[in-house]
Amino acid sequence: MSATSAEELTPQQESELRADLCRLRDALRQQIESSADAASPVDLDEPIGRVSRMDAIAQQRMVQANREAGRSRLQQVGAALSRMDDGEYGECLSCGEPIGLARLRVKPEAALCIGCQSLRETRAP
Ligand SMILES: [Zn+2]
Repeated sequence: MSATSAEELTPQQESELRADLCRLRDALRQQIESSADAASPVDLDEPIGRVSRMDAIAQQRMVQANREAGRSRLQQVGAALSRMDDGEYGECLSCGEPIGLARLRVKPEAALCIGCQSLRETRAP
């Protein structure tokens, strides 16, 4: 990547994106922590009736799915921060092209450029 590339991040932009990533990381951690109780296993001995028990299990599955999504995003955010420390942040992991500021502003943890990302998504089952 050449230093004159129009898409390359300036130190200023990079530090803004770092702040975004840190905020995102904190928010995700908080979200995961605050949902810890709701995700704990349903007590099957509790006399809440069959229907409400099924509700509770469905509810719990949803919370767990959200936590799972939160955890995997948290992982991506962490990976983005370490790429930043290594000076590799903002480059597509697949093709090496700049990901672009507009995309990073929306999704600062993005590891792929929009082209590689959509390629990956259309290939997914
Ligand atoms: Zn790419």
